[in-house]
Amino acid sequence: MKKINESCLFCSIVSEEIPSQKIYSDDSIYAFYDINPVAKTHILVIPKEHLIKLSDLKNYEILGQMINTASQLAKKLKISSSGYRLVINQGNDAGQEIEHLHCHLIGGNKLSSLK
Ligand code: 5GP
Ligand code: ZN
Repeated sequence: MKKINESCLFCSIVSEEIPSQKIYSDDSIYAFYDINPVAKTHILVIPKEHLIKLSDLKNYEILGQMINTASQLAKKLKISSSGYRLVINQGNDAGQEIEHLHCHLIGGNKLSSLK
């Protein structure tokens, strides 16, 4: 049984108490469309377990699974060759709003430069 936090929005999305536009699920990963997309394609790939942020990870196995899922979804959605961006916001300065680890898969159109 995965550890969940009852007051966490993303845990409620994983348990499907709160609806989302799911695109992928397996034993450890859940992926769904962002409610407020910043590009034509904007998906959130999250661990089913309630892990808060990158710096809390004891190993990086789940991170590999998240990135692999994002990469596979990009292929499925045919944005892999045109390109996409993966983003993990960690903490206040990065503007992390939801305290449940998540990777943004953003693409489907030309993205603004980070520079
Ligand atoms: P953060 O800023 O924490 O990296 O990203 C959180 C993301 O979660 C934001 O892009 C925001 O639009 C998305 N989000 C917040 N609440 C919901 C929700 O209820 N459903 C979905 N699908 N996305 C949400
Ligand atoms: Zn959670």
